[in-house]
Amino acid sequence: PKLSAQIENIVIAGAGQAGGRAAEALRAKGFQGAITMLGEEPHPPYERPQLSKEMLHAPDVPVSYIKQAGDWQDKLGVRLETGAAVTDCDADRRTVSTTDGRSFAFDRLLIATGTRPRRFAALENCGLDVQYLRNVEDALRFRKSIQNKSRLVIVGGGVIGLEAACAAAIMGCAVTVIESEQRLLARAFPSIVSDLVAAKHRSHGVGFIFGTTVSGATADGVTLCDGRMIAADLVLVGIGVESVPTVADRLGLPSATGIAVDANGRTAAPGVFCAGDAALQWSRCHGRAIRVETWANAQNQAISVAANMIGEASEYNDPPWFWTDQYDLNIQVAGDMLDSDHIVRGDTRSGKFSVIAMRGSDVVGALSVNAAKEMAVLRRVIAASKRPARADLESRAYDLRTALK
Ligand code: NDP
Repeated sequence: PKLSAQIENIVIAGAGQAGGRAAEALRAKGFQGAITMLGEEPHPPYERPQLSKEMLHAPDVPVSYIKQAGDWQDKLGVRLETGAAVTDCDADRRTVSTTDGRSFAFDRLLIATGTRPRRFAALENCGLDVQYLRNVEDALRFRKSIQNKSRLVIVGGGVIGLEAACAAAIMGCAVTVIESEQRLLARAFPSIVSDLVAAKHRSHGVGFIFGTTVSGATADGVTLCDGRMIAADLVLVGIGVESVPTVADRLGLPSATGIAVDANGRTAAPGVFCAGDAALQWSRCHGRAIRVETWANAQNQAISVAANMIGEASEYNDPPWFWTDQYDLNIQVAGDMLDSDHIVRGDTRSGKFSVIAMRGSDVVGALSVNAAKEMAVLRRVIAASKRPARADLESRAYDLRTALK
């Protein structure tokens, strides 16, 4: 790479999926300078999808299952410093420093500090066991709790709430999900899929309360804004994430809704890049800049940004994509399903179908229920900005692969 000779020190703030993949990509592309990775958690980078899925369902899965091998950093030649968050940055001296007072010089800085769960103020210090699910320790704690067949209240009917509800119901807990909207995953799912997911959960004994939220709690349970009281000995909060206050603020980069980056992952500060959940990036499907809080983005955008950090030109424009597993449902979502016309392909009663989202003649999103193969094609259709005719998409005889030709 033409610039890498002038770059000796790369610091990666954040040792999650984005930071880890970026470090691997830097080495794969031949960068031979120093890579220093600073992580708050005491582990090498690991992947988070299992934390709310496989791990909760398998009481015997050891922690090592989800962790990278302990010598990940040695094999890669990365200096990994864990246990302290990056909180400060001196833009002139080009150093970052951690909560324990150490500082690290950089030629290029990658901010990959992710996001953190939004806390629910009404549930702080309420005498009830209130948990959040973000890291491996959280997952182990929650897994242990649901093995005790708790009466569990889940605040938030999003992906965390629903995957956790599924695991807890299967473990035999009495589960009630409180969702402030009138339906589940309202921002990502069309109502037909929200209803299907709710019905699946109800068939496993999960109860839902829509259109209200929690106003407080005692040791016996939670109280709702509409005055009801739900008996509980455990609460899990999954009401979305917020920005981590990081070095961005010190660099004059606004970060409340994410740190703005271009398609190369560059921020407005010279030599400073951002990848993963922390980045606010343009989404063609959404028609606006968004934070893409997915495993796939943390991997693929980070790999692309790493190339740019050492002088290669790589633009990242993949449509957002995530999946969720609940009972026998595998649901995948690509692009944006909101504010669009929906075409349903397949028989919804068969439990295997997909929904295509169109804005004008653009395909801007797709959702599949137990139709992973169709989703693989739809992702390519969206990524390549293909414009198959609406009438074709509506026809069950139409082979989607034709659109890619
Ligand atoms: P989500 O944003 O997916 O869901 C939060 C849900 O809680 C929304 O439905 C939201 O409704 C609702 N909500 C917000 N405030 C309240 C409230 N006060 N009372 C009741 N409900 C409320 O976030 P999660 O917490 O589920 O997930 C956290 C992060 O982890 C996200 O970045 C997510 O993408 C990621 N994750 C991804 C998974 C996957 O891809 N399979 C699995 C698990 C986590 P509203 O729309 O009104 O805000």
